[in-house]
Amino acid sequence: MSQTVTDIIWLNNDLRVADNPLLRFASPPEAMLVVYVLDGRELDAWHREESGMRLGPARLTFIWQSLMALRGELLRLGSDLLVKIGTPADELAALCNTLRPRRVRVSRQPCCDEAAQIDALRSKLPAGTALEVVAGNTLVDTAALPFALDALPSTFSAFRRRVEKDAEIPPALPAPVTLPPWPDDASRGFPPLARLSRQSAAWQPDPRGQFDYVGGEAAGHKRLEAYLWQTGASPAPSGPAHYKQTRNGLAGPDFSTRLSAWLARGCLSPRQVHQAVKRWEARHGACESSYWITFELWWRDYFHHAAALDGSGLFGRRELPPLSDAFCAWRDGRTGIPFIDAAMVELAATGFLSNRARQNVASYLVKDLGVDWRLGAAWFEHCLVDFDAPSNWGNWRYVGGTGRDPRRDRYFNVLKQAERYDPDGHYVARWLPELAALPAALRHRPWRHAPERFAPPRVTPPA
Ligand SMILES: Cc1cc2nc3c(=O)[nH]c(=O)nc-3n(C[C@H](O)[C@H](O)[C@H](O)COP(=O)(O)OP(=O)(O)OC[C@H]3O[C@@H](n4cnc5c(N)ncnc54)[C@H](O)[C@@H]3O)c2cc1C
Repeated sequence: MSQTVTDIIWLNNDLRVADNPLLRFASPPEAMLVVYVLDGRELDAWHREESGMRLGPARLTFIWQSLMALRGELLRLGSDLLVKIGTPADELAALCNTLRPRRVRVSRQPCCDEAAQIDALRSKLPAGTALEVVAGNTLVDTAALPFALDALPSTFSAFRRRVEKDAEIPPALPAPVTLPPWPDDASRGFPPLARLSRQSAAWQPDPRGQFDYVGGEAAGHKRLEAYLWQTGASPAPSGPAHYKQTRNGLAGPDFSTRLSAWLARGCLSPRQVHQAVKRWEARHGACESSYWITFELWWRDYFHHAAALDGSGLFGRRELPPLSDAFCAWRDGRTGIPFIDAAMVELAATGFLSNRARQNVASYLVKDLGVDWRLGAAWFEHCLVDFDAPSNWGNWRYVGGTGRDPRRDRYFNVLKQAERYDPDGHYVARWLPELAALPAALRHRPWRHAPERFAPPRVTPPA
């Protein structure tokens, strides 16, 4: 009796059906199982002195919403989804031993832990099962870069100039019309979120964040379309016409695209975003501002390629240092610098922070408080709804002066930044309501007089 030709599709941060190369087949299988494995290590504490999980409530909620939405999409196309929790290589190996597929398909993973799981699976596969690692999730695949990965330019600017000149961004692929059926008797479905984490099941972002992150491919496209076509005050052209001027904003739903969470989980691909921007440009005309969205996506690409090259170096030494008073004051929004404290309150309450605020709080932790950058990166990993390992740890390394940054003396004077980007003190008053009664001119004053607050160090550039 001939055996059914089965493929297993192993999803990671590619939770979409459109522009997903894993779901395109030269020779389609007769049956297909789609599986997502939540790595059990994500449920470990983010720090040995803490109980909160690495995978914080904002991101876990977003992932679960994305998985539920994906399951709906897959069912519509004749397939389904299986979600497991455990060690990915072991879970996949167990499935392979039962289903005896002809192959497992997985997207190439930029970070060393996930890549190690792919390698581990390779050594556990039963005879007759192949492993196919497929490129995806960047504007340009590693193999299509105009240089070998180990010749990746050491600065972002050099990288961008090269890829803009010599690489081509392929078009985004349409969603498949139908998918191969589910293998007979194979399990499907996933555990309820509340069983994983009560905190996540109860997660409600603070409405002061003025933005709802809802996971899933359709929700990602809805946000993309809304940002491109509806965010400008009519009849002025919308978001992309002003992106370069507004992207350094701190508050509100539309100062930047707010696409990062969907990009991080792969509900949207960067090519889809790029292509949608091109559609907008065809209608309104290309301008520096609309170009700048793709410019920022190149940053994402750069960090992804750099992560693949740098391996465990991305994370620095693995063991995190002990938590210090200075770190805890920063984390809890008690440094006494209103601009920093407001941002840290926002981060914990919403799972999001503007790029401007991220740069300031990161610089303040490392350059003013003298705390190890890895603690900041680990706290961001726990909090962020859009956590993306290459972008988060890459940006933190950058701030920590150990990344691919030619300017190791980069320093943010947070008081000057506060005056510039929050001149009326609205942002700090929003997140630190106890300051709202103060006149705008006083809202950014360090809280040296507040005895219940951590005494802030002097804000001076490092020697
Ligand atoms: C310390 C620090 C940590 C960060 N951690 C993350 C993270 O975990 N995940 C994440 O997606 N971004 C991270 N960023 C980058 C950036 O802050 C966010 O991508 C951005 O604020 C998300 O908002 P947006 O989608 O509106 O971005 P937009 O300004 O609209 O940019 C469009 C897209 O470009 C990409 N992008 C923009 N800036 C960067 C950047 N500096 N590095 C990499 N990609 C970028 C993102 O995918 C983003 O969605 C971090 C930045 C800093 C300084």
